[in-house]
Amino acid sequence: MKDRPSFPARMPASVPAKKTKLGGLPNAPQGLGMDSGAVRRRMVEKLTAQGLRDPLVQAAMGSVERHRFVDSGLANQAYEDTSLPIGLGQTISKPSVVARMIELLRKGVDGRLGRVLEIGTGCGYQAAVLSHLATEVYSIERLRGLHDKARLNLRPLRLSSVHLLFGDGMLGYPAGAPYAAIIAAAGGEAIPQAWIEQLAVGGRLIAPVLGTSAPAGAKAGSANGQSLVLLEKTPQGVRQTVLEAVHFVPLKSGLA
Ligand code: SAH
Repeated sequence: MKDRPSFPARMPASVPAKKTKLGGLPNAPQGLGMDSGAVRRRMVEKLTAQGLRDPLVQAAMGSVERHRFVDSGLANQAYEDTSLPIGLGQTISKPSVVARMIELLRKGVDGRLGRVLEIGTGCGYQAAVLSHLATEVYSIERLRGLHDKARLNLRPLRLSSVHLLFGDGMLGYPAGAPYAAIIAAAGGEAIPQAWIEQLAVGGRLIAPVLGTSAPAGAKAGSANGQSLVLLEKTPQGVRQTVLEAVHFVPLKSGLA
């Protein structure tokens, strides 16, 4: 692949002033002194240093332009390992958490995952990352404003395998079931039964869950904090593993 900047952070002087501001692209980070591909490569290097091993997840994280999914005022923070506000009290997840959850879903899978269900589209960033790793992505959002925002953010990427749905993700999306993987970006008190029913046998589900105490050795959360839970559906039944403490926005029912 040709290593070409996707946009210049500093436009040549000959370019008219009004086009220089965002390098012709919405939400382009300014003042970084390098192109966003290089900034993403550095982000992936950091994720790798923190333990990310899956080469397909590394490639996906390196190719999705996270700065396109946040307000232009926050674009210069887009490649830091931090969650950022996306409006309506919600946040885009930290890159390290997105990478970790997707790596857990892909464990033991060669090549692409099949159909994946995402609960909590938010700004659409994680759905874009998932589109590199799954044949189809069904992503549900309960807030109309964010569902519309994700649609706008994803439109220029022309990802025909991403299906954005406005609805209550607590109910899953039976029309796309069974899913090879289910990923929740919001934490509830328990994993809804509908998700377990819609998961394929052999499939994996990852979700933040409230009040699950992390096992000894894991980074402890506060008493009523959330932990990441991995659920595997096998022919013998479901197996749940409680992983590290995490901080996600709450899983809520109903639409708004
Ligand atoms: N994956 C997103 C993260 C968004 S934050 C991203 O990349 O930006 C989690 C989202 O879950 C919020 O937008 C919130 O509105 C949504 N959410 C919470 N409960 C939900 C539910 N029951 N159904 C669908 N979405 C829900």
